[in-house]
This record gives sequence, C-alpha cells and structure tokens, in this order.
Amino acid sequence: LVSRKWRVRPTVLDLGDGVRIGEGSLTLAAGPCSIESEAQMERIMQHLVDNDVRIMRGGVFKPRSSPYSFRGLGMEGLKLFHQMARQRGIKIVTEVMQVSQVEEMHDYVDVFQVGARNTQNFNLLDALGSVDKPVLIKRGISGTLEELLSSAEYVFSGGNEKLILCERGIRTFETASRNTLDLNAVPILKEKTHLPVIVDPSHGIGIRDYVPTMALAGVMAGADGIIYEAHEKPEEAASDGAQTLNFTESERLIRNLRRVYALR
Ligand code: PEP
Ligand code: MN
Repeated sequence: LVSRKWRVRPTVLDLGDGVRIGEGSLTLAAGPCSIESEAQMERIMQHLVDNDVRIMRGGVFKPRSSPYSFRGLGMEGLKLFHQMARQRGIKIVTEVMQVSQVEEMHDYVDVFQVGARNTQNFNLLDALGSVDKPVLIKRGISGTLEELLSSAEYVFSGGNEKLILCERGIRTFETASRNTLDLNAVPILKEKTHLPVIVDPSHGIGIRDYVPTMALAGVMAGADGIIYEAHEKPEEAASDGAQTLNFTESERLIRNLRRVYALR
C-alpha cells in the first residue's frame, strides 16, 4: 500500500492552518531534542515564528541509552507544549514510545513520532494504524529501507494513511560521526513510495558544525523536508546538545534551505 505501484500520486498531508507535508513544499521542523521548560519553549517558539517555521519538534518521552539520563517531562510537559504551540499557530511533532501513550497523547500532538529504537515495535505501529493523526516513522538504527517501508505498511494497512518517512542515520563501522546519514535513502525511498520523505541531519551526523551541510545535501537529494534540533543554548540542552544548532545557526540554515529548495 505504501508502494508507488499502488499509488502513483504523491501523498501530501494537511496538518491544517496551511501546514502541508509532501511534494510541492519544503517542510521544516525544528526544536530541542527534549522539551525542558516553559521558558525554553517560549524562546524556541519565538525563533520559529520569526522564521516562519510552522512545525516544532521536541520529545517529552525520551529514549535514552542510559537510565540515568534525562528522560523527559512526560504528559505534563506535553500539555504545556500543546497549549503554547496552539497559541502561536505551531504544529507539534513528538515521540510516542509505547502503546499505552497513544491514547493519552492523542489530543495534544499534531504528528506522532516513532523513534529509531521503535521502528519495529509492531504493537506500537498497529496502535498507530487506527489513529487519525499523522505518524512520522524514523528509520531504525540498523534498519534497511525495506524494513522501514514494512513498518510504514503496518500503519497504513491498519487504516492510517497519514505517514512520513524519516532518514536519521544508521549505525555503520564509521566512528567519526555519531551515525552515518544515508542520503541514498532519499532517492530510493522517493522512487519506491508515494509517502513524504524527510531527513534528520542532527541525529544523522551528530556533530553540530556539520548539520547544516547535511541538511542542505538532504534537500538537494530530493527530501520533502528537514527536521533538526535547535536550542537557544545548545551547550545547556538536556539532551543531544552536541548536535543542536543555536538560533543564529538555525536562522542561517533556514534561509539556505529555502534557497537550495528553490534551485531544485
Ligand atoms: C529524537 O528525535 O530526539 C530521537 C530520539 O530520534 P531517533 O529516534 O532518530 O534517535
Ligand atoms: Mn535527539
């Protein structure tokens, strides 16, 4: 069902208020790795509004390698995130980690994110198949493109056709970067599926200074959008600060992404 053979016309998702994801527009989503506080959200939202970025990312349930790391503000954080975003016309994408969270999160999110560690959580994918909100599925850390498409098929076949695929880097033998952003995924997925394909250069390379370059490369490779991490003070971010852009870097990137997209 997610194949181009089944549907030739590209899928375009409408999040409302003029926010679309898919062919015909460049989708930009930015925000901190983790939602931390009201003050933090206030500042990043102002940055997004100032730059006409309509979608904010930010986790309230964080999958962390260590159980001692910050694991997110949970539902309380999400409710505040939702309220503040609504007031500013911003749409929310945030990670859902388990089946039991789908229902409680439902009314507070615009897009459910399935993280790289949960790409093959088939119970979670089943649960998301019966909701009426878009789902952004990240590629698994060691997942093939076929596996990513199969994960999307779970949600689609469950009845939810609102899907976005995201290349976020895979684990390889290379240790010079956190992950290896596989830009091959973009043209291949664009040919295989009618679904929107976006790129996450932050997790893809994991090194702040190189994030803009890989974001621009993602757009030139044909991505329908870019999702990246931004924070007023990356050095103080609760998670993933080393791959997070500050507002000056983010603003420059947004400008360049729009320029490059116009050249395509
Ligand atoms: C994130 O978006 O902050 C995240 C945890 O992403 P991934 O699942 O790709 O690691
Ligand atoms: Mn992160």
